[in-house]
Amino acid sequence: MQLYNSLTRKKEEFIPIEKKKVRFYSCGQTVYEDAHIGNARTYSYWDVLVRYLRWRGYDVFWVQNFTDVGHLTDDADTGEDKIIKTAIAKDIQPMVLVEKQIRKFYEDMDKLNIQRADIYPRATGEIPEMIEFVKDLLAKEYAYEVNGTIYFDVTKFSNYGELSPTTYSEETVGARIAVNPEKKDPRDFALWIKAPEGHLMKWPSPWGMGYPGWHLECSVMSQKYLGTTLDIHAGGIDHLHLHHPNEIAQSEARTGQKFVNYWIHAAFLTVNGERMGKSKGNFILVRDLFKEFDPMVIRLFLVNSHYRKSVDFNNDAISQNQVLLDRIRTSLAALKQANGGKEKVLRESITRVTTDFIQAMDDDLNTVGAIQAIMQFVKSVNNAFDNERHLLAEASDLIVTLMGILGIDLHITDVQGVIPLHSLISLIIVLRNDLRNIKQFKLADEIRSKLIDIGIQLEDKPEGTIWKFKS
Ligand code: AMP
Ligand code: ZN
Repeated sequence: MQLYNSLTRKKEEFIPIEKKKVRFYSCGQTVYEDAHIGNARTYSYWDVLVRYLRWRGYDVFWVQNFTDVGHLTDDADTGEDKIIKTAIAKDIQPMVLVEKQIRKFYEDMDKLNIQRADIYPRATGEIPEMIEFVKDLLAKEYAYEVNGTIYFDVTKFSNYGELSPTTYSEETVGARIAVNPEKKDPRDFALWIKAPEGHLMKWPSPWGMGYPGWHLECSVMSQKYLGTTLDIHAGGIDHLHLHHPNEIAQSEARTGQKFVNYWIHAAFLTVNGERMGKSKGNFILVRDLFKEFDPMVIRLFLVNSHYRKSVDFNNDAISQNQVLLDRIRTSLAALKQANGGKEKVLRESITRVTTDFIQAMDDDLNTVGAIQAIMQFVKSVNNAFDNERHLLAEASDLIVTLMGILGIDLHITDVQGVIPLHSLISLIIVLRNDLRNIKQFKLADEIRSKLIDIGIQLEDKPEGTIWKFKS
């Protein structure tokens, strides 16, 4: 499989450290607000990656964190802790907020069929390991203390900014944030932050009461569970310029070994061309969208674009995926009803869709190509009903399996407010047959011809009426 590695800026053959084993870490949610669909898009891709690798026989160990302390309103060590700020505004304890948000996160992700990671470490649960990590960096003189805060000294780490060199000129950093006089270099970042008087979340440390820096958390949580070198580390594209370079610097400074072999970054979901974000106020919560759309349609929309391309959100884009999903579900229903298919055509299509699907996914997780392959397959299956029932079952299982790798569960049909097309057509067939029984043939024929107009063909057979897409 080829993956685009942000570190080398090219597609590379994916070779895990240990044969058929994958150590995978993805940056997770800062749990102060409900997930918006931008977050969900990014997580959908990591889920697809894990599902796909597992389907190809890899043993994937997946860790994704919850940030419940230390993520400040500005990523570069200034501003307020997002959790504390929100907890105060809601007049609840920070950990009450965190618990609530984690539960809601699981609810939302479960509904979108984003499978759970193997471990979801929480930053507040790993404080002793973080303190040890900082102690090591101080001992190796990669870090320095100023008045209870510990900074990483980027000038000591020769490869600093390897992941994203252009963003690191002193002018850009200096212009973006008011230069902190405590820092020796404006690019230095806080590993451990002194807690001011009255600060809500703080822990004792050799440097006084404080709390961890956001960047430190991911290095500690990933390496604790996955080891010194990870195979794949993923995150949104916003992490490319600061969070991930800082993770590399502190991790490699500490161990002297490579931190991550493949860095992958997902592009943004945008609204009118602008990043969807909590701070921008232009976000749409996943749970709000459930009121309008079948979660599987949302899920299909989320993966029906390449992960490295940003995509603009609007309701029409989601609706188009409703049409695709209807087509697939309808085809599955038709397959169930059919007596058999044209064996040769079906056999060829079955072989072809698997090859095309794998070819697309092996090319840097090309989910769009994978979906196109499935749609092409659905089309050829619709035209191939004849005999040979076992192949129809195989075709139908294959559609369910391949869509499942993309996270679209075709077994989920009891979604409130969503009526699958096939149930509607079955109902129309029953009504039409009732009309024929009472000799209302003109009306029954009219129904049949109206259905043909919208692409659905009924066939009256001795064993009952069946339907298929008009070929
Ligand atoms: P946060 O909770 O803000 O740290 O974000 C959680 C994850 O969602 C990170 O991997 C972000 O990169 C990602 N993310 C945030 N906003 C967007 C967006 N508009 N589109 C895609 N991914 C996003
Ligand atoms: Zn992270």
